[in-house]
Amino acid sequence: MADEVKKTRGYRLLNCEQSSRVHFDKAANRLGLDEQMRNWLRIPLREIRVHLPVVRDDGNLCVLEGYRVQHNNARGPFKGGIRYHSEVSMEDIRGLAAWMTWKTALLDLPYGGAKGGVTCDPKQLSLAELERITRKYTQAIGFDIGPHQDIPAPDVNTDENVMAWIMDEYSKIHGYSPAVVTGKPVDLGGLAIRKEATGLGASFIVEKWAKDNGMKMNETTAVIQGFGNVGHNLAFCLQDMGCRVIAVSDTGAGVVNRDGLDIDAVFEHKEKTGSVAGCPGVETVDRENIFGLECDFLIPSALQNAIHGGNYRNVRAKVIFEAANGPTCPVIEPRLIRKGIPVVPDILVNSGGVVVSYFEWVQNLQQFNWDEDKVYNELKKKMIDAYDAVFGKAEEEKCSLRTAAYMIAIAKVAATARTRGIY
Ligand code: NAD
Repeated sequence: MADEVKKTRGYRLLNCEQSSRVHFDKAANRLGLDEQMRNWLRIPLREIRVHLPVVRDDGNLCVLEGYRVQHNNARGPFKGGIRYHSEVSMEDIRGLAAWMTWKTALLDLPYGGAKGGVTCDPKQLSLAELERITRKYTQAIGFDIGPHQDIPAPDVNTDENVMAWIMDEYSKIHGYSPAVVTGKPVDLGGLAIRKEATGLGASFIVEKWAKDNGMKMNETTAVIQGFGNVGHNLAFCLQDMGCRVIAVSDTGAGVVNRDGLDIDAVFEHKEKTGSVAGCPGVETVDRENIFGLECDFLIPSALQNAIHGGNYRNVRAKVIFEAANGPTCPVIEPRLIRKGIPVVPDILVNSGGVVVSYFEWVQNLQQFNWDEDKVYNELKKKMIDAYDAVFGKAEEEKCSLRTAAYMIAIAKVAATARTRGIY
């Protein structure tokens, strides 16, 4: 492992690879997973590192680093998003790829897990530069992805445009192939609901938890960190369910209204200005301050390590739902649980995106479109089935929700690997 545990202002942060291994080891120990299977499932099958020469708009050449990590494909083709971010590293992509393996297994999708990324700062790039980077990246990994091999999707700072460019560039080499990516624009075979699917799926989990805990949604409050694809769609869904979303944040700031934000107004302000900061009629605060607000649901929806040794003591929520990948530092999770704050894990909460990606892929392969109601209902069913499985397992095993989710997922992948005869 390249990275040592990072120390920031006196508290420890793990990269995604380290975090995913902590979770894996806990569940594998409980499962009594044999040593050989454990060694095989702990590491990715393949890691691809590429260097992308890209011409900037001013004519200068820059060379960017890109990655694709294919963690496991025992249950089906590799599947996972592509992240563009200035701090993307191979270590993080490794962990994110493993999380996809466990997520697709937990949700019973016929996929394995992968993740990709390019180290770049999209805020500093024009649309034309973003397109050139995406096309170069696709050329570089074009023989390692494919509709039955590895199917990318959007993640942080990538969207349907990026998916369209990947699909187009891949199709130049291999012929028309809409099923090579999911999260595409609708006119290329994407599903309209895919953009909101991760937030929508997370809202089903929140609603179910509230019901199981005797709460009415119209009497609940939520705080959401991150107001991008996942965060803002989740905020809309919760608002529609009657929940008061009292604070949201982005990299710029947090905004708070204890009576409940008007999410449409905050969204409109962000669209206009690029940030939620300064939204009229609400209080603008430091983005970190929202973690200490009293609320029912705290929902980190930005990046990994949002809740760490420096801020977990401030948390005054009844429950944490991880809509982002890896937002709770594994060292801190047991302390939150001891404080009586359960953490509903990412591989359950944010799985709505890959579930709808699966529906998109199936329709692309079959060249047969479902109606929107069917997609919505099938998503809800998948989310609730997985919720019941995780909460049932945690009860049976008297363990955390995360360990329960991992136990279910790891057992499935290991069983398929044994049946196929992976050795
Ligand atoms: P995005 O780029 O659309 O949005 C990220 C948001 O987080 C932005 O609003 C950004 O300003 C904010 N942010 C970043 N750092 C922050 C900080 N320190 N404090 C407050 N806000 C901060 O990305 P996304 O697609 O919404 O993904 C968010 C998370 O959800 C990631 O962890 C991603 O891996 C995970 N996820 C995304 C999908 C999907 O379908 N897009 C699916 C599953 C999981």
